[in-house]
Amino acid sequence: MVTNRFARAACGGMVLTEAHSAVAAMHDSERPFWETKQLDEMTAKEWESLCDGCGRCCVHKLEDEDSGEIAYTDIVCFLFDCDSCRCGDYANRTRRVPDCLQLTPELVRSLPWLPQSCAYRRIEEGRGLAWWHPLVSGSRDTVHAAGASVRGRVILEQHVHPAMVDERITDWPGEDVPDQ
Ligand code: SF4
Ligand code: SF4
Repeated sequence: MVTNRFARAACGGMVLTEAHSAVAAMHDSERPFWETKQLDEMTAKEWESLCDGCGRCCVHKLEDEDSGEIAYTDIVCFLFDCDSCRCGDYANRTRRVPDCLQLTPELVRSLPWLPQSCAYRRIEEGRGLAWWHPLVSGSRDTVHAAGASVRGRVILEQHVHPAMVDERITDWPGEDVPDQ
């Protein structure tokens, strides 16, 4: 049986511009923090900048009560801004959406539904960041151009009748995105 036990994650991406400037100013011989640090060694600013702004963690997930199997949907949190592809109220998200989680290194290691393409998961698994990650490309647009984000692919939860949730189950939010 599939239940509507929604789980969400809070994304970062609030300080990308500062992070980009820091990367641009970096000497060639220096390696960026995401290549040298473990998740729990990062500063708060580095941690926030690691979020690629894909929005995949903001879609609703369904958990099978018996098997624990997770199914992704293309239904996104009511607070999600589909135009900017970011949280519509990042500062107050956990107050307004109590099951929105603030990601931590421990959660990255333990959440089974964190998307394969998620930058935090990639770093934790030693896969590094893809070319389309804003910290690598220097642009916030590449995450969308690469098809890594949810932009244009999701529907807000307030527009979905509860009886139709199962119809919105889809695999892509949990799948990886090719690096090339
Ligand atoms: S899936 Fe990961 S990288 Fe994408 S928005 Fe969520 S926390 Fe950020
Ligand atoms: S409140 Fe909703 S839109 Fe904002 S980060 Fe959490 S799940 Fe995403």
